[in-house]
Amino acid sequence: MIGFTLTDEQKALQELAAKFARDEMIPKAEHHDHTGEFPHEITKKAWELGLMNTHIPQEYGGLGLSVLDGCIITEEIAYGCTGIATAMEANSLASAPVIVAGNDEQKKEFLGQLTAEPKYAAYAVTEPGAGSDVAGIRTTAKKVGNDYVINGSKMWITNANVASWYFVLAYTDTAAKHKGMSGFLVPRDTPGITVGRKEDNLGQRASDTRGLTFEDVKIPEKYRLGNEGDGFRIAMSAFDHTRPVVAAGAVGLAKRAMDESINYAMTRKTFGQPIAGYQAVSFMIADMAKDIEAARLLVWRSATEIDAGNRNTKYAAMAKAFAADMAMRVTTDAVQVFGGYGYSKEYPVEKLMRDAKIYQIYEGTSQIQRLIIAKEIFERK
Ligand SMILES: Cc1cc2nc3c(=O)[nH]c(=O)nc-3n(C[C@H](O)[C@H](O)[C@H](O)COP(=O)(O)OP(=O)(O)OC[C@H]3O[C@@H](n4cnc5c(N)ncnc54)[C@H](O)[C@@H]3O)c2cc1C
Repeated sequence: MIGFTLTDEQKALQELAAKFARDEMIPKAEHHDHTGEFPHEITKKAWELGLMNTHIPQEYGGLGLSVLDGCIITEEIAYGCTGIATAMEANSLASAPVIVAGNDEQKKEFLGQLTAEPKYAAYAVTEPGAGSDVAGIRTTAKKVGNDYVINGSKMWITNANVASWYFVLAYTDTAAKHKGMSGFLVPRDTPGITVGRKEDNLGQRASDTRGLTFEDVKIPEKYRLGNEGDGFRIAMSAFDHTRPVVAAGAVGLAKRAMDESINYAMTRKTFGQPIAGYQAVSFMIADMAKDIEAARLLVWRSATEIDAGNRNTKYAAMAKAFAADMAMRVTTDAVQVFGGYGYSKEYPVEKLMRDAKIYQIYEGTSQIQRLIIAKEIFERK
């Protein structure tokens, strides 16, 4: 049966998240965008309200909510500020590999930290020389006795500076290409880890992105996720859980841009009438409304598939690419609706346009999502 009616619990979550965005995020979003200050106070409150780590199973202290529930919450949070939302959501990306492949001991230790206290974790896969081409990473983990010794550099790691542990992808066998990669859980305080400076990014400036260097970082074998050689599969399968949620963030951001555009179009007058009365303007807003609805349907479809235990890789890539490209278009049009004021930091839409761009890049670019969709179509008929 197909239905779009949310349960009472989902409606309550949606309302809680919307209120949080309204009361706690929107008033402070401009400050964090301007200063780049990490929004600790806000994420702490979100954690206390149960708006972070929602997907962590109950036996490890989480709420055990579904991916669809996570999408419903994230759309509302992203409406408030996607920079702050990304700071909150990075935990989901880092913990997805643990949920997918961790044993009970690893889940207790690493997921348990995130639910016991308002702590952070980070997903460290990308490197200075390899983003889309994950097999091009150069970080290695060499087995020495009962330990692994990690050497290499990571780049663009969200929450690298605040995380108490990292999911790190490294080669245990460079000759075996992507089948020679393994995933590791690395506590932040392990000797040999250096965190780089905060990147001065275009948008989502509340979120903290940095490089990481691993120099002879020794971790016990028990911190390897799954078997040697499973790392690539684990790192990629995490995206089936997180891409629907990232796409939901793009939907929330676009909805904010549309609402700002509607309000402005109804009050700004030219030639003696509100600009909403001009078809050229109202059609831009009609397109926003139609594209936001379509993106949300894909988000819900991709989430529902994985919640039902089905392979959702194609739908997750579709949702991510469609929602990201849509958010970029909608926010660009929102700036257009505002005219010159749209170009000014005094008004909210220029930030939304800057914030939207990263959705087409992180968790796999829009081009890479199309590669995945095509691969799913042609190789998994
Ligand atoms: C703000 C921010 C936060 C991030 N957070 C994290 C994080 O927490 N953890 C993490 O591991 N990474 C993170 N990333 C990294 C992000 O996932 C990568 O930047 C992204 O995957 C693209 O990789 P790249 O930057 O190396 O670009 P490249 O891979 O060099 O791509 C450059 C361009 O070429 C295109 N391209 C590349 N290969 C192909 C192809 N085969 N076919 C068609 N087009 C192609 C791309 O689409 C892109 O347009 C973050 C990045 C940013 C900017």
